[in-house]
Amino acid sequence: MAASKALSSRSASQASRGRVLPDDACPNCGTRLLEKRGRLRLPVNGEEISVPSARFLRCPKCGEIVLGFQDSKRLHEDASAIYRKRHGLLSADEIRVVRERFGLTQANLARLLRLGANTVSRWESGRNVQTAAMDILLRLIRDLPGSIDYLRSHAA
Ligand SMILES: [Zn+2]
Repeated sequence: MAASKALSSRSASQASRGRVLPDDACPNCGTRLLEKRGRLRLPVNGEEISVPSARFLRCPKCGEIVLGFQDSKRLHEDASAIYRKRHGLLSADEIRVVRERFGLTQANLARLLRLGANTVSRWESGRNVQTAAMDILLRLIRDLPGSIDYLRSHAA
């Protein structure tokens, strides 16, 4: 099945940078692209993740695959969720629940963990995945009473 043809890592990262086409024409040959659903691969933390039913546009003539902004966003979210499940990491929702339990904004939590201001936001939207080290720290905050107070008293 043509739609199941894997997208190369290179194409996926190009799409994720938001290449915008003026219309629905193939960037290679100008043929009108068709909407497809199928398996695409995307690297997450250096590991190739296979997303089973990604949406994308495909050129019926030359096979070029193009992802629109929403499709690309969804592909990253799905790939992050699969990666987290495979590695036993907290899901985006679980991270949000931990943060909200302590009444922290995304920026607050990022500051306490000495991360870039947008890092927690990226975790919760599935744009990035937390490292295993950060994952265990989030679990400590969730499960060990007093952890947040400790972080607050040692805030940078
Ligand atoms: Zn084409």
